Amino acid sequence: MSLKTFTPEQLALLRTLLAAAAQAAGWDAVSIEAEGDRMLMALRRGPRSLPAPPPPGRSPASSPSSAESAGASFLAWIRPASDEPSFSRAGAWSVGYRGDLPVGADSLLRSLVEALADHPAPPRPAEPDPALIFGTDQLEIRVTLTCNEHCVFCNSWHGADNLATDLPAAVALLERARLRGTRKLVISGGEPLLVPWIPELAREARRLGFSYICLQTNAVLLSRRRRTAPTERARQDIGGASLRSVGLSVPSPQPPTPAPWSLLQATAPDEVLVSAHGSTPEVLAAVTRRPALAQAHLDGLCRLLASDFRIIVNFVVCRQNLADLPDFVRFLARQPKRPLLLSLSYVAPIGLAWDHRYETIPRYSDAAPAVLAALRMARSLGLDAVLPEYCGIPTCVLPELREFADPADERRPVHVPPDKMLVPRCEPCPWKPRCSGIFRRYVEMFGDEIPPSSPL
Ligand code: SF4
Repeated sequence: MSLKTFTPEQLALLRTLLAAAAQAAGWDAVSIEAEGDRMLMALRRGPRSLPAPPPPGRSPASSPSSAESAGASFLAWIRPASDEPSFSRAGAWSVGYRGDLPVGADSLLRSLVEALADHPAPPRPAEPDPALIFGTDQLEIRVTLTCNEHCVFCNSWHGADNLATDLPAAVALLERARLRGTRKLVISGGEPLLVPWIPELAREARRLGFSYICLQTNAVLLSRRRRTAPTERARQDIGGASLRSVGLSVPSPQPPTPAPWSLLQATAPDEVLVSAHGSTPEVLAAVTRRPALAQAHLDGLCRLLASDFRIIVNFVVCRQNLADLPDFVRFLARQPKRPLLLSLSYVAPIGLAWDHRYETIPRYSDAAPAVLAALRMARSLGLDAVLPEYCGIPTCVLPELREFADPADERRPVHVPPDKMLVPRCEPCPWKPRCSGIFRRYVEMFGDEIPPSSPL
């Protein structure tokens, strides 16, 4: 259990209780601050005034010891009860102190024990749901791992606990997420437009109370120029070898969807997130490794951008398309309708990107100036562009990137996921509360790249 599950009001109540208990024992609480899993109290007791000397011939009344009369300070802590050694247990709490215990301070600790004996402990945090997108309250369901592209950084099978390849399995995930209060759904893949039952999934989600649905697509199937049913090779080629290598079976191919645009309309997502990683067929061919589909990809993207769907464009920055960033921004700005958002994600060292890391993952310090220039150009051309926190560049590498950081709401908590890390030099960084850290694997490849002069 941790204090993190207390609301601000509950924390304020706890502080008041502790301050009152300290005062009752004759101590002042100079500060009461949450520190990790505990509440740390800095306590001070002023020097006691000495009683008047006894009249001649009378023995002195009991008087404070010289240690007591000199005043004292020390640090006490409380935390939800655990096996850690402590001064005492108090109901659901442990009470302890740091350093030496000044004379008379044990009465203060006993006062805290008494005050906390019936005070409720913080609620247990909910178990993390593997289908929730880390650090958010959005449920992501991968409705297939099959894809008609074969991107150099594909990681669709990574953490595939959220894979639901039939409607009942997907609805079970929806129901579980609703019990947790989740209202946002992301339909992901593979390529979700290869799955004929996504309209039913969206209907079920709305019926269960989901208020937001985002559908991710690479847009290839939405091209008007050609109907692009995936070839058998493409279906099995979603990193099939990699799937087997991580112990997952390659799913059976889904029948090609007869009318992808109608499927999209019937699904009626609130937003469509298009994976678009290049402005020309050549760049796209290098990234998606399906040269024959590159033009269809661009056509599908343009068709979506011209439609009434609300579009988010996600460009994954990698070695293969880094130089194309300015052209891609200009390409988007030329479209008759602008997307709601352009997100410049940074390739994550997982999945195929990790298998081919040195050909795919640029160094942050090499890529950051180009990413910043692209973000600025996008803004100057009237596009709303962001650098996402979880799939971005740690902004200490180039602090000007912070202007484009997403989430933009600085009060929204950002967590460090298990595959990322902060390092000791992050401690003084003013951006730390908003930073999800650096991928551990990236550190393994290139070091942390945090400038030696942090804090920044
Ligand atoms: S917290 Fe660490 S990794 Fe994040 S921006 Fe600051 S110094 Fe960089």
